[in-house]
Amino acid sequence: MDINPQRVLDRLEELAGIGALEGGGVQRLAFSDEDLAGRDWVQSRLEALGLEVRIDAVGNLFGVLDPGAEGGTGAIMFGSHTDTVGRAGRLDGALGVIAALEVLEVIVASDWRPARPLILASFVNEEGVRFMPDMMGSLFHVGDLDVSKVAAARDSDGILVADEFDRLSYAGTDSIDDLQVDTFLELHIEQGPVLESNGCDVGVVTGVQGLSWFEVTVEGASNHAGTTPMDLRRDAGAVANDLGHRLRGLPSEIENLRLTIGAMRWQPNLVNVIPDRVVFTIDVRHPDSHRLAEAEGRIEALLLAAHHPANGCSVTWHSLARVEPCVFASRVVDAVSAATSDLNLSGHRMISGAGHDAQILSRRYDAGMIFIPSRNGISHHPDEYSTDEQILDGCRVLLRAVLHLAAYPAGGHHSPQN
Ligand SMILES: [Zn+2]
Repeated sequence: MDINPQRVLDRLEELAGIGALEGGGVQRLAFSDEDLAGRDWVQSRLEALGLEVRIDAVGNLFGVLDPGAEGGTGAIMFGSHTDTVGRAGRLDGALGVIAALEVLEVIVASDWRPARPLILASFVNEEGVRFMPDMMGSLFHVGDLDVSKVAAARDSDGILVADEFDRLSYAGTDSIDDLQVDTFLELHIEQGPVLESNGCDVGVVTGVQGLSWFEVTVEGASNHAGTTPMDLRRDAGAVANDLGHRLRGLPSEIENLRLTIGAMRWQPNLVNVIPDRVVFTIDVRHPDSHRLAEAEGRIEALLLAAHHPANGCSVTWHSLARVEPCVFASRVVDAVSAATSDLNLSGHRMISGAGHDAQILSRRYDAGMIFIPSRNGISHHPDEYSTDEQILDGCRVLLRAVLHLAAYPAGGHHSPQN
């Protein structure tokens, strides 16, 4: 069984035409007309394949190849998302859905039938740029986000998801609970520079790093920059700068830690006035739960130490977001790894730097991911690019990995073989 390369490339082109922007790029913001048109496009292809289509209460789309009476439960699900950020590229999300479609297309055309149901999944609002939170569809699917919370999310124009559900008849009433999914696999572009820089064809993703966001407020007193002696100042800017310097030292002490101070607001932000207030953010990420917690502890100790009478400033902080690292199931990682070797491709075991639906689905299922290289690590931009060969290799690995996973009955934890 092999994929049809031209069909995959044509479909990527076709889907990129939905929401195409003048001057390049694609935009299918969640729960917009373009987003619905993208979902309809996938749905019509699933129907043309004779698959059973189900749409759930938040609009997640599923295409089911059910082996019928003689087959068991314990379905294998694979896919991604078709919503995009504003002015996006054509591969983020779309690749994983079109590859999933291709896998089903190839299997339906063959005379082989899996012992377990196979399901294409396209989850809504992965990007979260118009309506928060991101990964909304997968969060709903695993039961960690209520449909009423989804409906009450509001965009910057004050429009509710519920309004868009009504206007577009977006939501459905189906579920796939009867199929007892136990596995989820997602093909995605890397969105980072690692595979390109080490010349590997495929990322065998072993997990997704966790993250913790803080917002820190430093408060002192404003005064004249020329008349206030240095030792009589309560300079919020000086304290914030010093903290920034100390915080940036943490990654050299905790291996694999990534720390970013991405936003900083100064008040009054004038050349000749001592600032009385600085608010800044800290984004810290680590693939290991204990090391992430250790980094958080070190950050809080630094913040607490800066909140000292000698500095004349108060330092307060709160958490903006926290996501635990996720470790993918070895059964699924092994299937991806075996598929990569079967195809004589070079695989690189790696942690995902970005968040994905697969990390949410790993709360309920054995999950895994396949990455292909991203040129210059660029994504969320019209310049997002992977070569045709890389795209097709990714689809082949997905097909092969699904065949490995489907070759055994549910509950079987055999290691895959050729
Ligand atoms: Zn994505």
